[in-house]
Amino acid sequence: MELDTIAAVSTPMGEGAIAIVRLSGDEAIKISDTLFRGVGGKRLKDVPSHTIHYGQLIDPKTEEVAEEVMVSVMKGPKTFTKEDVVEINCHGGLVSVNRVLQLTLKAGARLAEPGEFTKRAFLNGRIDLSQAEAVMDLIRAKTDRAMNVALGQMEGRLSKLIQKLRQDILETLAHVEVNIDYPEYDDVEEMTHHVLLEKANHVRNEIEQLLRTSQQGKILREGLSTVIVGRPNVGKSSLLNSLVHENKAIVTDIPGTTRDVIEEYVNVRGVPLRLLDTAGIRETEDIVERIGVERSRQVLKEADLILLVLNYSDDLTIEDENIFKAVEGMDVIVIVNKTDLPQKINMDRVKELAKNYPLITTSLLEDVGVNELEEAISTLFFAGTIEASDMTYVSNSRHIALLNQALGSIEEALNGVESGVPIDIVQIDLTRTWELLGEIIGESVHESLIDQLFSQFCLGK
Ligand code: GDP
Ligand code: ZN
Repeated sequence: MELDTIAAVSTPMGEGAIAIVRLSGDEAIKISDTLFRGVGGKRLKDVPSHTIHYGQLIDPKTEEVAEEVMVSVMKGPKTFTKEDVVEINCHGGLVSVNRVLQLTLKAGARLAEPGEFTKRAFLNGRIDLSQAEAVMDLIRAKTDRAMNVALGQMEGRLSKLIQKLRQDILETLAHVEVNIDYPEYDDVEEMTHHVLLEKANHVRNEIEQLLRTSQQGKILREGLSTVIVGRPNVGKSSLLNSLVHENKAIVTDIPGTTRDVIEEYVNVRGVPLRLLDTAGIRETEDIVERIGVERSRQVLKEADLILLVLNYSDDLTIEDENIFKAVEGMDVIVIVNKTDLPQKINMDRVKELAKNYPLITTSLLEDVGVNELEEAISTLFFAGTIEASDMTYVSNSRHIALLNQALGSIEEALNGVESGVPIDIVQIDLTRTWELLGEIIGESVHESLIDQLFSQFCLGK
């Protein structure tokens, strides 16, 4: 495959003391050499692979020194893209990074499209599609756990599982072929029926198992969108503050990947919460009163988790009761705050209202009960199961969609076998399942889909 040489900034714009401009392609070293002035006239084309060199970057037109740089030279195929890769480390300011990038473009590189480095790694056979997508997830990973899931996927854990399932289906299809080729033997038909049921059942169970991990995967990747509701003055802002203060946001720093901008995230015992920022919370303070139970239900429906706060030192009001109505059927944790003050709330009624939810009492002022709240959050979402380290999480929405379709067609196949549908119809469903699973690892994907996938990547990756 003949691919041109691409370049992009592969560190976040305007951040950090050092920025990297990365080049990949046949001409990467040659282009860099036209710009680089090493100590004692050193040329990059002569240096050993995987070494780093100090020097100056000059504008070849004017011979003016543009930047002080460190340049890494990595010759293919032992690189991320399998092509020759040069990384120019320069000062992190916006102006100097841009200057370096512009110089490489003037010298013959082409500005990389979003995700193009990863796309090349895929096209050059370095990684499969699910691994490529994992790179994107890594960039966005918000907690250590999310990172491990993405890393596991990149190492090909999901790919291996999918490949094994496809192999199972192929073997099943082979049995079907025998049946179609020798329909006159009764015992072949009986054996086929038996093998089909067993194999198809196995495949269905495995797909279901993978899908079960997807909800947790989504949470790990995107964070639980969490809304704190309650009447004014019950302690919502205080709750937000103690959650933020006690749980520092995780900053991922993986060599060779872009450090994405970190959002206001908190990691509560492995559960990433995406808390509405203070401004957002303020707006929802009187949400139920302002827009009514029905409308607020609509708004709250978007949330994965509701933290419903009540005031221990005040009577329950109709407003409190309305909030309970608005969050019915959702994942709710009820927090009775201000227990340091004399009790006025009717706890029997609270217990009645909260009978389906965990109920926590807190004094946020005195820092009491926050641990219990965190425990409740983690129990609610992990129920202990997520700790299993060898579990494969499916967290990518494209994978989930494909797995659901694959589940549909394998169930069609199973129903077919059970109700005695002609075997060649069953064969079609099995083949379809095989194809759908193949799309996850990019083995039966159309070019256009590939382009679409890679365009989602950050520029420079
Ligand atoms: P919000 O209006 O629901 O966001 O409530 P705030 O978090 O702004 O708190 C309202 C007031 O209650 C503030 O003065 C807080 O300091 C106070 N407060 C919050 N939690 C407690 C608590 O546990 N005990 C006491 N005594 N006061 C609290
Ligand atoms: Zn507030």
